[in-house]
Amino acid sequence: MNHKLNEGAVSFRQKDFDKHKSLFGDLSSSQKPHTLFIGCSDSRLVPSLITSTIPGELFIIRSVANIIPPYKKGVNFPAISSAIEYAVLALEVENIIVCGHSNCGGCSALYKSEEEMKNLPHINLWLELSRPVKNRVTQMLPKATLAERDWMTEQKNVVQQITHLLTYPYVLERYNNNKINIMGWYYIIETGEIYNYDVEKGYFELING
Ligand SMILES: [Zn+2]
Repeated sequence: MNHKLNEGAVSFRQKDFDKHKSLFGDLSSSQKPHTLFIGCSDSRLVPSLITSTIPGELFIIRSVANIIPPYKKGVNFPAISSAIEYAVLALEVENIIVCGHSNCGGCSALYKSEEEMKNLPHINLWLELSRPVKNRVTQMLPKATLAERDWMTEQKNVVQQITHLLTYPYVLERYNNNKINIMGWYYIIETGEIYNYDVEKGYFELING
């Protein structure tokens, strides 16, 4: 596997880097990304690919199940909150995309028992932040099939994370003053479809049909 990665590094330098040499030169001393992209760590979700963007455009945070911890002064999951702080306050991004996806292992793990999660204690702790989503879906769809349950959980989870994002006072202030645009995306791996959450209508709409 190492061999494959090393070959990839050689190929990048010879082909893609060479093709975009002047872009990398321009980016050498500063960045001005327009968007903070917060997505699940899943390998099948590739932010630059699904947004057709190039280096320098997206500031990216990845986390299991694209969870954003609610704002708290002091130390509270600082890996995520420090990156949000930097993107919004220092880089002054214009957009924030929270992106969930189909077949999300993190979202389906919400339904696993303590016993099933006993070897994954950090994931279990992290998923606590999305527990309200599980409770809401279970209440709304008590007789749902597994597919319906997962689909609903993945979408509601995006909405929940937008709620968490708006607990950051500087995000809320910029959102209320129309200085920052917040989008909730749901990406379907096998079709390439992206649905955006319409806050006023309260549901997801296909944006690339
Ligand atoms: Zn995922």
